Amino acid sequence: MNPEKLTLAQAIRGLLKKEYTPGELARACVKAVEDDNRRPDKLNAIIGLHPEKAESLAAGLREGAPLAGAPILVKDNMNVEGLPVACASKILEGYVSPYTGGAVSRLIQNGGLPFARANMDEFAMGSSTETSHYGIARNPVNRAYTPGGSSGGSAAAVAGGQAIAALGSDTGGSIRQPAACCGIVGLKPTYGRVSRHGLIAFGSSLDQIGPITNTVEDAAILLGAIAGYDPNDSTSVDAPVPDYRAALEASPKGKRIGLPAEYFSEGVEPVVRAAVERVVAFYRAQGCEMVPLSLPATKYAIGTYYVVATAEASANLARFDGVRYGRRSPGAKDLRELYFNSRSEGFGLEVKRRILLGTYVLSSGYYDAYYLQAMKVRRALKNDFDAAFAKVDLVLTPIMPEPVFKIGARSQDPIKMYLSDIFTVVANLVGVPAISVPCGKDADGLPIGFQLIGRSFDEAGVLAAAHAWDREQPR
Ligand code: GLN
Repeated sequence: MNPEKLTLAQAIRGLLKKEYTPGELARACVKAVEDDNRRPDKLNAIIGLHPEKAESLAAGLREGAPLAGAPILVKDNMNVEGLPVACASKILEGYVSPYTGGAVSRLIQNGGLPFARANMDEFAMGSSTETSHYGIARNPVNRAYTPGGSSGGSAAAVAGGQAIAALGSDTGGSIRQPAACCGIVGLKPTYGRVSRHGLIAFGSSLDQIGPITNTVEDAAILLGAIAGYDPNDSTSVDAPVPDYRAALEASPKGKRIGLPAEYFSEGVEPVVRAAVERVVAFYRAQGCEMVPLSLPATKYAIGTYYVVATAEASANLARFDGVRYGRRSPGAKDLRELYFNSRSEGFGLEVKRRILLGTYVLSSGYYDAYYLQAMKVRRALKNDFDAAFAKVDLVLTPIMPEPVFKIGARSQDPIKMYLSDIFTVVANLVGVPAISVPCGKDADGLPIGFQLIGRSFDEAGVLAAAHAWDREQPR
């Protein structure tokens, strides 16, 4: 049994036919990781292997559970009882989850079994999985390139045949961008669609958990297994969860798809634009109406995101102080030094940069100029999208303005790194669902992805339109 290229839909069929057991499937994934770990240029997509967890959960598998015992890779920022969880940070080294969070609990109830922890940028801050305390992850398509980030481990493992499907988290693009970089599918659900309980918070008003999968069909299956109201998350929404898989069959004919000028500007490299134009032509041929649009507040989105996300991060990360949570620095002579040393030694450079930035924008005298201003732009972005969705059903854009970059190409230049998030942060600021789907390759063979953004809670519409394209692609 080879997990390589096995879709979640195929794995579920194989499990139901008893061609293999959940334990065998989990062990096959583990073997793929162990084999790869012997290479000097290993993917390093997975930083903790726990097949025994999957096997013990398999013993309690409910008859008729839709995922039928399929092993699912979980990003290292989600609590799973009894497993370590570190957000790929030194500060949480050795910490073991005392409980299982809402989305993962639902996953397990639906027969999806966590078996490993995925590498990520430290505290999900990054776009390349280069800030992990556990070492960089590599892109399975070409190991000299980054797999994207921050859920780069989740994406590299699925694309590299080490996992059948994975959960990632997306605060400003961290599901969609790595999926695009690795040539697979990533879906950020509507804010409130999936419980954040047990997801270690980065930007609480932006974070969502979602699927990273080989196909759009798999994304629909996995979303259905994690979505829904959770009383432990006050921002989760008590709305019925549709049958996303059944919704895939809806034809895109007659859908109105918006093409925002701001996302097809000069800044977009020709190879990316050409790939996305092919998708535009496809939908037109399917009988969709392509509608030129403007989303003028987009030009402020990156600045706004890096104010809101860092402000929330600075508050969320205050609890890692060596007392309440986190590794405690030994030998401090007083409490102040204990906090200071624990945080200085425990956090990496990018996390420190964000805490400093976030503390600054919230501090008295600067709050109005930065944070309050950012909240106003956020509202303007929301108004742009409300106006757009009065005219169109979906918005189509590239995922990144340029092709995938090489390892090390941006790690010394934070602004350049931040700018690669330009097309993804908007969906988080507005709260709407967005999917990333592969649509071509650049001259070096690295994947390119496009994005479909939908109305709040219309994941079914987003998935159906994405599936119409995806089902036609050679595999
Ligand atoms: N790359 C973005 C950042 O660095 C998004 C991260 C994320 O979505 N977690 O903040």
